[in-house]
Amino acid sequence: MIPVPVSEKIKELLGKETDILRSASIGGGCINNAMKIETSAGIFFLKWNDAKRYPKMFEAEAKGLTLLKKINAIGIPEVLGAEKAGNYSFIVLEFIEAAPRVRNFWQNFGSSLAGLHSNSSELFGLPYDNYIGSLQQSNFQKKIWMEFFIEGRLEKQIALAKNSGAIDSATVQQFNRLYNKLPEIIPEEKPSLIHGDLWNGNFMTGADGKAWLIDPAVYYGHREMDLAMTKLFGGFSTDFYESYNETFPLQKGFNNRVDIHNLYPLLVHVNLFGGGYLHEVKNILSRF
Ligand code: ADP
Repeated sequence: MIPVPVSEKIKELLGKETDILRSASIGGGCINNAMKIETSAGIFFLKWNDAKRYPKMFEAEAKGLTLLKKINAIGIPEVLGAEKAGNYSFIVLEFIEAAPRVRNFWQNFGSSLAGLHSNSSELFGLPYDNYIGSLQQSNFQKKIWMEFFIEGRLEKQIALAKNSGAIDSATVQQFNRLYNKLPEIIPEEKPSLIHGDLWNGNFMTGADGKAWLIDPAVYYGHREMDLAMTKLFGGFSTDFYESYNETFPLQKGFNNRVDIHNLYPLLVHVNLFGGGYLHEVKNILSRF
């Protein structure tokens, strides 16, 4: 059931005469209540939550999706609104209707992502914070990727893990030793607009049979962050990487750097789910 204050606000958002005809829950999300809503103004996707639980989460998601959509490189749902209603906050998006994948789905996905990454900016980061999953992601701006990666990504998650006791001091020291080596491991790149949380659960096949991105944790980052993240849980089709590389060639040795980039999402997983993920982090640290 959609909470009454939310359905009232949705009607305002879509036009006073709008009726919500039907709604159906959608599973698969990790954080929020999700629904398909059929209204007299069309079919939409709705997510809502307690407003106090994740402050400004939907506001940040709306900004992120809007930023990505503006580039026009890959399918991104349009944002109809992100608002507060009583004790709730919610977001309404264009509904992504699933359809069979086009034959060259992965090639198209690879070149489209490369197109998105071609969008650059002066600085790494973003002028506002957002979320990665249910965790805050802080986004100041820096000229040098390595500084942003260490201060804005790794150190933030390490501090959280230290606070909760999820990480031991020996591992923290290993991170400190790694920082000195990073400039030799990670090649310089211009800032790229990236999705920021590109795992299997964050893309869908749209009505056009092509990949559409959802649930972003956007910022201007090192573009290999997105590609590495796709490999965290098994990886995408080889066609995807080949086509990306043809469109926007990667610097040599990407495969050797994947695990370093993935230290960030792995630390996020340590903070969200604990245990086994720290083992993976330690494993990577011991190899560099
Ligand atoms: P959460 O914020 O809780 O992680 P998601 O954004 O992942 O929620 O959405 C939950 C599920 O809803 C997704 O796994 C996907 O199947 C579906 N979904 C997400 N966005 C849309 C959309 N715009 N249109 C249709 N379905 C969507």
